[in-house]
Amino acid sequence: MLSVEKAKAIIEAQVAPKPPVQQSLQASRGLVLAESVEANQAFPLFDNSAMDGYAVRADDLKGASRETPVALLNQGLIPAGFLAKRPVQAGTCFQIATGAAVPEGADTVVMQESTFTEGQHVYFRRAPHQGENIRRRGEDIAPGSSVLSPGTLILAAQTALLAAFGYSEVKVHPPLTVSLLSTGSELVDIDQPIGESHIRDSNGYMLATLLQSELCEVQRLGIVPDDPDALRERLHAGLQSDFLLISGGVSVGEHDFVKPVLADLGVEELFWRVAIKPGKPVFFGKRQQTLVFGLPGNPAASYVVFEVLVRPALRKMRGLPDFESPRLKAVLTKPLPHRTGRTHYARGHLQWQGDHYEVSPLVFQGSHSLSSLIDANALIELPPNAAAPKTGETVTVLPLLA
Ligand code: AMP
Ligand code: MG
Repeated sequence: MLSVEKAKAIIEAQVAPKPPVQQSLQASRGLVLAESVEANQAFPLFDNSAMDGYAVRADDLKGASRETPVALLNQGLIPAGFLAKRPVQAGTCFQIATGAAVPEGADTVVMQESTFTEGQHVYFRRAPHQGENIRRRGEDIAPGSSVLSPGTLILAAQTALLAAFGYSEVKVHPPLTVSLLSTGSELVDIDQPIGESHIRDSNGYMLATLLQSELCEVQRLGIVPDDPDALRERLHAGLQSDFLLISGGVSVGEHDFVKPVLADLGVEELFWRVAIKPGKPVFFGKRQQTLVFGLPGNPAASYVVFEVLVRPALRKMRGLPDFESPRLKAVLTKPLPHRTGRTHYARGHLQWQGDHYEVSPLVFQGSHSLSSLIDANALIELPPNAAAPKTGETVTVLPLLA
């Protein structure tokens, strides 16, 4: 059976970042930059005051001390957003607000706290170091320097930087469109009455929530029974999106019609069945630009396959260079049974212990289990050929972030 590694490689080869579009800065939160951005000006743009204080010539205050304060004639206040009307001449100063441009002639700002005023004069109780409390033009970012590169995730800090340089629009990879279909004649939606042989479509809601964590625009195609004609119609609609995610109907049961119907619709099978536990019957295929995942109906299996195979594919199409989920190492608190042959993703609870992570495998690991998902904040990843790890052994875990 196909290994998880090989399945990942097949998926990766099929996925490219979505072609970029121009987007307003406001609407680009969480999207990935598709261009490099240069500083079109210095930042800060002009020498400005880091303090509320007085703009002075340091030479004027050489002899100032607590015992022998030196007086300068105050020429008025420079508020932020205004320029001084005249330069600072010997023996004079300007009161200056944080962020205001340092006037010509001044080379230093003295903080208000080391001064006192008497009439038109300000008394300085300390000789400042020349240049202190001035933020220099370009000291943070030099004009022309490269500030953001393609592949950067636009979050608060990046938005601030783009705004600071006046970029009202940026080139980004747009959000992905994903169609989501739940299959199974036993399924009913959350607002429908439920009979003895029914089960509510929890996967539809779970997968929609997972997709939203990658900012996908989700189109819910609802529930379709295990009926080839009904399936054909609904799957056809889903093939217009970037991704089509199908829950259920990809196993080897008599009523698992998803694969033959997808084949009918021209979807090329790239793999079916992967050596992963849980989640073995996963299907991956492609038609034109649409990538199709058939996920097992069992909720825990569906969740694991989403995290291990689907999420990295979504992240790569979003334009993220680091599309693989981060792993970390944790010490196992209990032995974890593991049969060789498949990569095992056991649900676990991860906890920081001050200087290392500990992970506790949850007791109930059934692929149909919802309770184990509720308590899990990590998947413990055991390679196919590893021996079952014992208490105290270090294992690889994949934190569940969404
Ligand atoms: P299947 O993959 O279609 O063979 O389904 C495997 C198991 O998952 C069965 O017990 C189904 O009842 C259950 N299942 C299938 N689809 C869903 C769903 N959308 N929500 C919750 N459970 C489901
Ligand atoms: Mg089914």
